[in-house]
Amino acid sequence: MAEVLLTADRTLMSDYHHNVFLGFGTCAPPNVIPDWLYKFLFFPPIKTRDGIPIAAPYGLRKVEAQLLKKGFDVLTVDPDHLKEYIDDAKVLGIHVMDPFGIGPASSTFAAIFKKEPFLAQYFHVLMEKPEIRRAKKHGLKIIVGGPGVWQFKYRPEFVEKYGIDCIIDGEAEKVVGKILQVALSADVLPQHYEVSVKETPSLEEIPDIVNPSINGLVEIGRGCCRGCKFCSVTLRPLRWYPYEKIMREINVNLTSEYASNTCLHAEDVMLYGSKNTIPNDEKLIQLHELVMKKCEGFCWSHCSLATVASKPKLFSKIAEIIQQKQPWWGVEIGIETGSPELAKKLMPAKAHPFKAEEWPEVVRTGMGLMHDNNLIPACTLIVGVPEETEEDIIKTIELMDDLKSFRSLIVPLFFVPMGRLKDKDWFKKTEMNKLHKELLFKCLEHGFYWIDKLIDLSIAGKWYTTLIRPFYKLFVEIIRYKARSLDQMVVNSQLRNT
Ligand code: SF4
Repeated sequence: MAEVLLTADRTLMSDYHHNVFLGFGTCAPPNVIPDWLYKFLFFPPIKTRDGIPIAAPYGLRKVEAQLLKKGFDVLTVDPDHLKEYIDDAKVLGIHVMDPFGIGPASSTFAAIFKKEPFLAQYFHVLMEKPEIRRAKKHGLKIIVGGPGVWQFKYRPEFVEKYGIDCIIDGEAEKVVGKILQVALSADVLPQHYEVSVKETPSLEEIPDIVNPSINGLVEIGRGCCRGCKFCSVTLRPLRWYPYEKIMREINVNLTSEYASNTCLHAEDVMLYGSKNTIPNDEKLIQLHELVMKKCEGFCWSHCSLATVASKPKLFSKIAEIIQQKQPWWGVEIGIETGSPELAKKLMPAKAHPFKAEEWPEVVRTGMGLMHDNNLIPACTLIVGVPEETEEDIIKTIELMDDLKSFRSLIVPLFFVPMGRLKDKDWFKKTEMNKLHKELLFKCLEHGFYWIDKLIDLSIAGKWYTTLIRPFYKLFVEIIRYKARSLDQMVVNSQLRNT
């Protein structure tokens, strides 16, 4: 029993069949697949022992490690087992990613399905748990943290209704201890705590995780130096972890008997150890050699097309190291736009060391290299940024045509005000014009072309593959059907307007 409990909702306490791409399924709303089956397919509950998950989201593990280091009595608990622990707890810390389903991916899915996504529903389910409501009446303090906290600013009535005492916004290592002290001493907590740049932890102040993270995710660095206007990551300083720290965390995951896989996490894994936007060959190669010696399965969280395009030989060398153990690996990347003009305005350094106006060519080169070297990217495009013109959308549609033959998923995401654009207006689906819809269909067609092959690659080798493959394909068919009805609505509205 512990006085501080940490948890997250059901959609976050899953290992997604050890496939991070499947995690995207939590952004979709309920559909014709029964909810229990959908949950099994996309976010099955993580295994537990006495209600304690054998792995948890990495961000939650960092907070857990920091609190243990500071001497707090803390335990990470599965959301469905809180009732066994909560009566002894004084504080409940909740990790959030997209609690209200208004993040870019889920709001785009919502435009197609017109319903609240699973991840928002399950966050609600967590907050509605009778044991939490009861404990709250008896004085439990609720503290929320994680990348999705910005959404609470848009839901003040929810914060009030569920008695959320404090929302921590930013890297919490240096502040979470003192906030917990206040919570335990029954003093009044600040309702919204924004971590200042001064309070951003240095490398030495970031503890190693002490328990396994989901899918063997380990951070190799924080921050990004590219400065895209729509991004909040870029406001934080760039720090790379030394090999020893990374390997210590990998060992925590590997010795747990939970995972033999590692997912290296950074905003651009290819830039490991670099001070700018030019990769450091030696450090990147050494990191991969060290990691591949230890692990059976492997992926990257993010990388950028510019770094891949700027060092094709280095990229092939890394692919060679990885492919000694597995035939392909995955990553998320941001294409954002096919317009050089918009790239110049919004993300002037995203193409660096190339010029911003060379961005479409950088995308074509980078995507080609990824295809040839068996790196499969899940890519994003931003739709509806405040400065976007019709010409910009046309350029992105043209770029989509050039990317047809590259194995990938490309998802258009509605603009959400963040980073230096946080005071701008949201993009709503009602603002979608004909060109936006054409772009959406291009992305869907691209996805439909590649998805069967990607499903086969993603679930190959599992005992239940034959059993569950048809259901994933059914889900793709549902999206295809919904997209067609959206298409029909567009045609109807165009006929009405002529
Ligand atoms: S490259 Fe990615 S992480 Fe870096 S500032 Fe741009 S959007 Fe953010």
